[in-house]
Amino acid sequence: MLDILRRQAGRFQCPKCGQSLADCRLEMVVQQDEQSLVKVTCAHCQDARLIAVALAAEAPSAPVIEVRDQPMEELGAPITADDVLDVRLALAGHEGDLAALLR
Ligand SMILES: [Zn+2]
Repeated sequence: MLDILRRQAGRFQCPKCGQSLADCRLEMVVQQDEQSLVKVTCAHCQDARLIAVALAAEAPSAPVIEVRDQPMEELGAPITADDVLDVRLALAGHEGDLAALLR
């Protein structure tokens, strides 16, 4: 999973400093079924945020990535399974491609 994200990270920009996330640090936070929350830390400004990742069963090499635009320090509580389920519901309602999710 993290290997797949690593390959895709270069396509994304840090929302804080605008640099490529190609060199970012990736850390698995929660993994439940095909849904995961991954902590991404920008190598340039050290800005840390969570992204939700869903591996599509029909295309396991092309995960659907949703950025939860929420700096780590503003998180009130540890991530729970309920949070992961919320992400699952949000992704289920998404009608668009990966680029649309990241806007
Ligand atoms: Zn940054």
